[in-house]
Amino acid sequence: MTTANTTNSAARALWLTTLLLSACGGEAYDSREQATPLGVSSEASTAYNLGSWSRRPMPARFCTKLDNSQSKYVLSLASYNVVRWWVIDALQATWGQVPGVTFVDNGTCLEGQLDVTVSIGAADPTLGYGDLHGLTGRGSGQTMMWALDADFSAEAEARTKAVAVHEVGHGLGLAHEHQMPGGTPCASMQFKLAGCTSCQDGSCPAADYNACFPDYPATMDPMQLDPDAKKYAIQYVHDTTPDPSARPLTSYDGLSIMDYCAGENGRDELDWLPTRLDLLGMELLYPDSRTYPLGCGTACFYAGDGIIVRTGSTVTSGWTARGAVNIHLVGGATSFPMVPGPDGNGNMTLNVVDPRGQTRVAGGQYHKSAGLYSAVVLASAVIR
Ligand SMILES: [Zn+2]
Repeated sequence: MTTANTTNSAARALWLTTLLLSACGGEAYDSREQATPLGVSSEASTAYNLGSWSRRPMPARFCTKLDNSQSKYVLSLASYNVVRWWVIDALQATWGQVPGVTFVDNGTCLEGQLDVTVSIGAADPTLGYGDLHGLTGRGSGQTMMWALDADFSAEAEARTKAVAVHEVGHGLGLAHEHQMPGGTPCASMQFKLAGCTSCQDGSCPAADYNACFPDYPATMDPMQLDPDAKKYAIQYVHDTTPDPSARPLTSYDGLSIMDYCAGENGRDELDWLPTRLDLLGMELLYPDSRTYPLGCGTACFYAGDGIIVRTGSTVTSGWTARGAVNIHLVGGATSFPMVPGPDGNGNMTLNVVDPRGQTRVAGGQYHKSAGLYSAVVLASAVIR
């Protein structure tokens, strides 16, 4: 099989596609009663769609299975058992920490597909870490990922976890950060995209082939692509051009684990943790029913037990203050101006609309403090 190698920094990016895996088997589910909690607990919520976003039901029933049908190489049962726990550990430490996301481990997938199914097969050992990759449809919950047999090194673990977190990120509904409409691709992606765009019909000049497949020098000019290579070029174009169905949840995050450009932007290639904004985006997809904290809009301070506002301050939802975009108060504004008045304490709630159009509550205590600026700074406040 002709496939594309990659540099380490692009390992996560290669082959991470939004292809839907073909459905297979029946719909029989394992008993939920015997399940073991994986993440933090939260209330149940129902699945619904907004645009192309699909959510998983929560708690998400999770299983893994060894799948040696997707590669000519074989992943041993011993390796699978290690990788399975890498995946579980990674998901619990990342998306499982989002308050509205809970995984329930159903063990080995027996039959049918659970909410989150991670199938694990063997990566190509001749390509090493460059062949660690996965396939997940956005919101489909069905992931196929490839791991190296008998490599239990710390690096293999970190890179495998990064693939799992990225892929299940798709499965839970996140799109690629670099496909945000209106975004500008990083230089390396633009270069490769131009080459793959030229090659996706199956033939292209050698220079374009070399841009799309930097680890496989062209042997002809023009270069003829075999079916697997052509498929790769098409997929790369699909996975790197702006996605008009995606809607930004937060400000652009070039270090996102969902961004092919993250390495070029300075992300450590062995870092498998989502960023603060990745976690916020997931929280926005799976909000639970609670009062979220108030956030500071302008000219105010955070204190341990609330927000300190001065004349002219605005408050906003905690989501907005943490980097979410398009979180509006009921009525349309994104922040609320505090009216002048005497110093003192008060409580406030703001009704805000989450990305799916559901009204949520942000609330908390405020302290009006027009005259205690310096005392507040010296106590516990953070200037915003
Ligand atoms: Zn991806």
